[in-house]
Amino acid sequence: MTQVRVPPRPRTIFTLAGVPVQVDPTAPVGAIGVWGMCWLLVGRRYPGRSVALRALLTCLWTGLFFSVFFLHSLGHIVSARAAGAPMGALVITATHWLTWYPNSGVPPQAHLGRAAGGPLANLAGLLIGHGLRRVLPSGPLGRDLAEAFLAFDAAIGAAALLPTPSFDGGALLKWSVYAATSSFPRAGRAVQAAGLGVSGFLSVLGLGALSSGRRWTGLVLAVSGLIAALESTRRE
Ligand SMILES: [Zn+2]
Repeated sequence: MTQVRVPPRPRTIFTLAGVPVQVDPTAPVGAIGVWGMCWLLVGRRYPGRSVALRALLTCLWTGLFFSVFFLHSLGHIVSARAAGAPMGALVITATHWLTWYPNSGVPPQAHLGRAAGGPLANLAGLLIGHGLRRVLPSGPLGRDLAEAFLAFDAAIGAAALLPTPSFDGGALLKWSVYAATSSFPRAGRAVQAAGLGVSGFLSVLGLGALSSGRRWTGLVLAVSGLIAALESTRRE
């Protein structure tokens, strides 16, 4: 995901390929949220298993989720360097994972290059996951882990490509339109229109899920649609 704002009081916890990975005081809330999501997913995937096995698998799936996130971020780090516009920091808060670039005054091709790296890394992740799936033995501690990795990789890659302003898809659309037209207003309008389209699509899907009794799916889709609408109408 692409952003330029840096939250208050970030603290560097380690470096990823030479780029500081920083957290703010709210970051643990996000990590707990991911753990809770994995707890629910593991419960649905393996109903009736012991609490100990569910907790173990939840920890493993949480690790897989973050490994996919860091793979995505590594893609941005590598592509930003190749584009001559390196990343300054990767900043994690409760609600956002920000790829912070200190230099925004770079050519459109550099913006496109550094935005493309994350989704391309997810594509590489899909190939790695498929390879692991073929060699691992079946079972919750074998092939199923490769399948969870594949699912997280596909989900994060697809979400990143949504054409809303803070996401890679929005950056790719904005700078593609700008490269073609040399017009910032047209590029901005294109991203706003695409974001509102995504918002409407997610909201309709959410209402459909709610009306068919899938409460949690409907709620997640409806909230995602609302966030996409707010993102798209936000002034940059
Ligand atoms: Zn990204």
